[in-house]
Amino acid sequence: MNPELETKLRALVAHLLEENQKFNLTGIKDPDDAWTKHVLDSLEGLGSELFDGNQTVVDVGTGAGFPGLVLALARPQLRVAFLEATRKKCAFIEATLEKFSIKGARIINERAEDAGQNDRFRAAFDVATARAVGSFAEVAELCLPLVRVGGSVVLWRGENAEIEAQNAEEALDDLGGFLRDVRPYELPSLPTRYHLITIEKVGDTPRFYPRRSGIPKQKPLA
Ligand code: SAH
Repeated sequence: MNPELETKLRALVAHLLEENQKFNLTGIKDPDDAWTKHVLDSLEGLGSELFDGNQTVVDVGTGAGFPGLVLALARPQLRVAFLEATRKKCAFIEATLEKFSIKGARIINERAEDAGQNDRFRAAFDVATARAVGSFAEVAELCLPLVRVGGSVVLWRGENAEIEAQNAEEALDDLGGFLRDVRPYELPSLPTRYHLITIEKVGDTPRFYPRRSGIPKQKPLA
């Protein structure tokens, strides 16, 4: 990693852990743990060429800003929208964008179900990302409506990604998605085999999706 980027990302972790004491933004409290599980994990996305240009990216359920903040710092030409339902997390991201002079970013303090039915955001992005937001089918339903046809959804998933993806094949088809790539990876000193999933949006998502708030989680398509 280039030293300038590493300095910024270390500063991001320090800032996160400091603010976390006031606002309880993340369960990860140890700096080394946060470095690996938030920063290095988010950086795995850069293996995808989807972040190499000036794409518009929406990070769905960004929480304290992962992977969105890391992508924005590592690839400053990206235009990242941080979509998060919880107001205090949006306030943290707003302050962080300012502190780290991140340009071309926006915050969408909404539920993804509402944003996906809002013409300002529907089919408006080149790429949607999501990490640790919900089941495979749930995040697919939240993310695919936000992406233009020809765009992609990139999901940070755990051990069972391959099986989840197989089980959700029909659901993806209904949503206009096609499973393009499943890439396993590991993180230093962790036993888990993680996966980066790329779904291409090959057709329009029917207007019916995303269903109303809470339904994608309660009645997942797969
Ligand atoms: N992506 C972050 C946060 C994961 S926690 C990370 O990997 O660290 C999941 C976050 O998604 C929470 O902050 C929660 O508020 C948000 N979230 C869950 N469902 C959502 C929805 N339907 N719309 C918007 N945000 C949602």
